[in-house]
Amino acid sequence: MSGKEMGYIQEAFDTNWVAPLGKNVEMFEKEMCAYIGRPYAVALSAGTAAIHLGLKYLGVERGDVVFCSSFTFSGSCNPAAYLGAKLVFIDCDRESYNMSPAALEKAYEQYPDPKAVIIVNLYGNPAEFDELLAITRKHGTPVLEDSAESLGASYKGVKTGNFGDISIFSFNGNKIITTSGGGMLMCNDQKTRDKVLFWATQSREKFPWYQHEEIGYNYRLSNICAGIGRGQMTVLDERVAQKRHIHELYAKAFEDNPYISLAPTTKGSEPNYWLTAITLSADCKATFMDILNALAEQNIESRPAWKPMHMQPVFKDCGFVTQLDEKQQKAIGAGSVCEDLFNRSLCLPCDTKMTDDQVRFVAGIVIKTIEDKQRA
Ligand SMILES: *Cc1c(COP(=O)(O)O)cnc(C)c1O
Repeated sequence: MSGKEMGYIQEAFDTNWVAPLGKNVEMFEKEMCAYIGRPYAVALSAGTAAIHLGLKYLGVERGDVVFCSSFTFSGSCNPAAYLGAKLVFIDCDRESYNMSPAALEKAYEQYPDPKAVIIVNLYGNPAEFDELLAITRKHGTPVLEDSAESLGASYKGVKTGNFGDISIFSFNGNKIITTSGGGMLMCNDQKTRDKVLFWATQSREKFPWYQHEEIGYNYRLSNICAGIGRGQMTVLDERVAQKRHIHELYAKAFEDNPYISLAPTTKGSEPNYWLTAITLSADCKATFMDILNALAEQNIESRPAWKPMHMQPVFKDCGFVTQLDEKQQKAIGAGSVCEDLFNRSLCLPCDTKMTDDQVRFVAGIVIKTIEDKQRA
């Protein structure tokens, strides 16, 4: 917390706006619009809720095909399942760890008419939007940009959250700033904003009594949580700077190590480095679990990379498209790039409260674990 949150919360209590509406909600939306540079925002109870209403607005219905990055958190794609869509997961590429333009092209050959494409900015690294949007525009498919992890990142000078027809953010407890739980949907026109807000507040028609002509949702952000968000906005740039600093320290610690590479930075982009992930080389004898366990012994938490969605039991009946051919799959001993990366990657601790010495201490354990394994 920044210390400013309690002031906004107190104001909500003092004015008795302890509800999913009030000044904090309005101001939080305005501040996000100004920060991202997009005209309309709707504050919601979660990033997942924002994706749900975003996909609904883009017209996704039962049986429709929806493309989604496979290398992501389940919150990206669960809402497509709520709507009864047929999910087709798309492999990532090594240059960004985000949706592969080549795999996306290939997916259109098999599924020519998707209703929407969900593009994720993994770990705060922007996707290759020039290439990806050229493809989706050619096919006339709307894009939902999942920027849950990338608040503060930019691609070619433009902040993420501007690249989807609809873009979303998350303020869950683990994100770069948090409202304890919350999300935001961003769009370009008032019509979209009004419709999403209508659905998010139980689809109440303009009648003196409660009149409903469409199914509604209870997805609005509370005025208390929005107060936390306003306090957090005041330190967002600081947080991004600290995440970048931690990433730089790790990069420096690993720069001469042949077994460790950092997850890539997309060309022309400035990630927020929400998480710093490392990928071990194919000839590294240590596994990511060896490193995770060595860190755990020192009471340090690290996390495996997101397990790709197409490998999740719950999504086993969904489609999946990789750009790899059989020969390439054999050569890497995995069916896809994201599977290969999952097998060899680990997210290192990078909380903004970490000191430089703590980051170097973690890096030292990673390096030593690998050295010990190589020698054994
Ligand atoms: C956190 C996250 C979500 C979901 O956001 P919530 O606010 O937790 O519902 C969706 N997509 C990605 C990539 C995320 O990291």
